[in-house]
Amino acid sequence: MTKRQAGSELERKRASKVSAEPRMERVPRGRGGGGARALAKGNTPRIDREADFIVIGGGSAGVSAARRAAQNGASVILIERGEIGGTCINRGCIPKKMLNYGATWAAILSGCLSHTGGREDWNDASVRIHAEMARLHVSYTQRLQEAGVQLLNGEATVIAPNLVRVGDAVLRAGRILIATGSRPRPLPVPGGELASTSDDVFTWTGVPASVVVVGGGYIAVEMASILSRFGVTVDMLVRENRLLENFDHDVAAALGETLAAKGIRLHMNTEVTLLDQANGAIEVCYRQADGRGQGNGKGGKAGRGGNGGRIESVRAQAVLAAVGREPNVDGLGLEALGVQMTESGNIRVDRQFRSTVRTIHAIGDVIDAPQLTPVAIAQGRWLADRLFARRGEGADFDVTPTAVFCEPALGCVGLTEQQAIEAAGKPDRIGTRIKRFVSLENRFAGNAMPSMIKLVYNARSGRILGIHMMDNAAPEIAQAMALAIRLGVRLSHLQTTVQLHPTVAEELFG
Ligand SMILES: Cc1cc2nc3c(=O)[nH]c(=O)nc-3n(C[C@H](O)[C@H](O)[C@H](O)COP(=O)(O)OP(=O)(O)OC[C@H]3O[C@@H](n4cnc5c(N)ncnc54)[C@H](O)[C@@H]3O)c2cc1C
Repeated sequence: MTKRQAGSELERKRASKVSAEPRMERVPRGRGGGGARALAKGNTPRIDREADFIVIGGGSAGVSAARRAAQNGASVILIERGEIGGTCINRGCIPKKMLNYGATWAAILSGCLSHTGGREDWNDASVRIHAEMARLHVSYTQRLQEAGVQLLNGEATVIAPNLVRVGDAVLRAGRILIATGSRPRPLPVPGGELASTSDDVFTWTGVPASVVVVGGGYIAVEMASILSRFGVTVDMLVRENRLLENFDHDVAAALGETLAAKGIRLHMNTEVTLLDQANGAIEVCYRQADGRGQGNGKGGKAGRGGNGGRIESVRAQAVLAAVGREPNVDGLGLEALGVQMTESGNIRVDRQFRSTVRTIHAIGDVIDAPQLTPVAIAQGRWLADRLFARRGEGADFDVTPTAVFCEPALGCVGLTEQQAIEAAGKPDRIGTRIKRFVSLENRFAGNAMPSMIKLVYNARSGRILGIHMMDNAAPEIAQAMALAIRLGVRLSHLQTTVQLHPTVAEELFG
């Protein structure tokens, strides 16, 4: 048997082991349909199962809460209507980051190593991503079941403060947790249904020749950068006059310039008004407000004119709408029970993640909080400890590192310059330092793609308040520097720490 055959034999064995592994228990959809109706007063249904804790939603938030609660001795039922792992595993962080690797390799292979004829293929990347998702599904299911969590596959509806219906079954628990996450917001213009969302991208079996990305947030930027590196012609239509409104303005501006230099056509201050089919392509009409902002602004076709700005249009084979996310609360029956929502439509919770109905809690993307996997996980663990172990030491959400996995990547932690000035009350209380350089990696690759590090600090004490970086190494550095910021690192510490050379991180020091 050759080494290669032995490898595939091993893979077959692994695959058969995987298929024999425990799965979620399927709950058939009730014929009468549970619906979102609350239970009529005095009407007690037959109870099929009981537990201390029912968790609705098997994403990052629900899985972490369910597992920790079971480890704390609670009896737990977790209900998931789709694949275990939720957005992060199936439609978010993991497939996105892996596509980003694929895109980087595609760019490297077609640049540095073009003479070898090597290239990274979208479908090939997709196969490897789905293999990783399948591995994670098994791993998550196994770990939950090992902890003693009962896993049900079905659509849950809350019918009373302690009762949940799944298919024909009625379940009762002392506490119910809503961790149903969020979904992409549809593009609210005529023809908006022609646009794909980030969910769809992970199901594409190939890439279109051209894509218009609508939006300027991190998902829009990541998708634009990934697609562009797979050889797609990308136009971005951004409503604001800059990308990444929630990020520091200097790194966001530097990234905008770099993306434009790499060929992504940025159309700032634009408002999409209409999508229409046009000979196998989609025509996107948009209103161009005064001042084009950053980007080269090319690629649009002047059109029919309109009120309050010129109407222009751009055609592409596909449109990707990344215009925000909305909570998965429809059909859960919450409002009938008196669970209140915030202005943004998310579930209103107090500091202990309690909704306005005492037995019902909510965490993750479905509440007003940063929509990030580690935040959802930390909330889940904290809540499960508090409810079932009477422990309450939680994560420090004030220092939450964040990244944009594009090329070059952004890695940020702490306050932006603007936030620091607002917190201090006066601009002269805040100092900033900006360093621009070309990394050794890019020198080797034969391009002069700039990297950047910006420090935001207290001008009097030198305490570092924020670090904002643009470089492919930035996300890894931001994670490590989150600890330093929490521990109160100062400029003087950075200046007196011996550097590790040659690295990108050394540019922070000295
Ligand atoms: C494209 C993209 C990229 C991202 N990249 C990153 C990143 O790089 N880093 C990062 O930290 N975060 C990232 N995020 C955000 C991150 O994925 C989310 O913040 C996180 O997954 C939220 O977890 P959650 O458990 O609250 O919701 P989800 O993961 O969405 O889980 C909710 C689950 O509830 C289920 N559900 C809903 N209603 C019901 C019902 N009635 N009955 C039963 N089940 C139900 C859904 O099927 C779903 O599986 C990204 C998101 C997207 C969309």
